[in-house]
Amino acid sequence: MNKTMIPYGRQEITQADIDAVVAVLESDFLTQGPQVPRFEQAVAAHVGAKHALAVSSATSALHIACLALGLGKGDWLWTSPITFVASANCGLYCGAQVDFVDIDPRTYNLCPEALADKLEKAGKEGRLPKIVVAVHLCGQPCDMQAISALSQHYGFHLIEDASHAIGGKYQDEFIGNGRYSDITVFSFHPVKIITTAEGGMAVTNNDELAHKMALLRSHGVTRDPAQMTHEADGPWYYQQIELGFNYRMTELQAALGLSQLERLNQYVARRHELAARYDQLLAGLPLITPWQHKDSYSGLHLYVIRLQLGKLGVSHREVFELLRKQDIGVNLHYIPVHMQPYYQQMGFAKGDFPEAEGYYAEAISLPMFPNMTLDQQEKVVASIERALQS
Ligand SMILES: *Cc1c(COP(=O)(O)O)cnc(C)c1O
Repeated sequence: MNKTMIPYGRQEITQADIDAVVAVLESDFLTQGPQVPRFEQAVAAHVGAKHALAVSSATSALHIACLALGLGKGDWLWTSPITFVASANCGLYCGAQVDFVDIDPRTYNLCPEALADKLEKAGKEGRLPKIVVAVHLCGQPCDMQAISALSQHYGFHLIEDASHAIGGKYQDEFIGNGRYSDITVFSFHPVKIITTAEGGMAVTNNDELAHKMALLRSHGVTRDPAQMTHEADGPWYYQQIELGFNYRMTELQAALGLSQLERLNQYVARRHELAARYDQLLAGLPLITPWQHKDSYSGLHLYVIRLQLGKLGVSHREVFELLRKQDIGVNLHYIPVHMQPYYQQMGFAKGDFPEAEGYYAEAISLPMFPNMTLDQQEKVVASIERALQS
């Protein structure tokens, strides 16, 4: 990407962030020290969850969340086709099969009515999902109350993929408080709302799930005598009681995360200001701006417009290319997962999820990040106006 390109997302790193990371570099612990538990406690307190497990990415958080919930061979995991591939891949990592539920045409999130229909059919065929991953696309929470009611009725577990949504609220409560789900997952990739470079977190109110995820994140190894099968051989002793991974977060990452977390509310508020300004500046153009449900206070990781192609003389691809040519770093979130070659080879085909495919044909993510200037925003809007007129 060239220097003048306005990116679709960008981290903000302050002197306080840098000082926090340097202090860790000069300390005794680069990993497995005091910063990770501090970061975990701070996130848990912020979102209102009992436990938080910091890990190397949201992808690893999704993996250990699925394992902790017992997902394995012969099981099904369902999610939305409009998400990053990681929300589906976590099912495949566990040897389970993956299926999708079409999206709601207004929120672009997994549609509760489509879910209810699919569950009814699956119930009759004896292939109900063990886990549904509800992805809060762009930071806007899914209709968790409806999805949770279905989970009670059909007996599946619920994971919230809140990679876009830390700092957002559902029904006036922070996403991650676990009112409607078993586990919620956050991502701290640099384009997301706060960053640790790479990094993620799984939060839960369930002691047993927290305990399992803690083991799985670090090789399945414990030093806690209470968890061992027999008395310790000596002070050096540890036991491997599960097959786990090295999914740990470093102290450097946790220190950066702690420092960033202090600005979380400010960042989300700033994103709301920028989104409101986009709403205003784009009004009247042949495109659809993001619709927000009344129960939702979105994290607003993304600002996605949909082109009204019937009113335009240019194609979706042409508009996208014209914007990139004007140094507007637009993007597209996401290519429907079922249209990826890896998933097509499992039998998914074009036409399987029409709402998701309709969205893909029209969506464009506009640049939005906390330190975006008003000039940059006006340049984006002027470029869109030019692109739509050509
Ligand atoms: C970014 C993202 C992930 C993966 O996050 P990483 O921290 O990069 O592993 C998963 N799901 C969604 C919806 C994402 O946007």
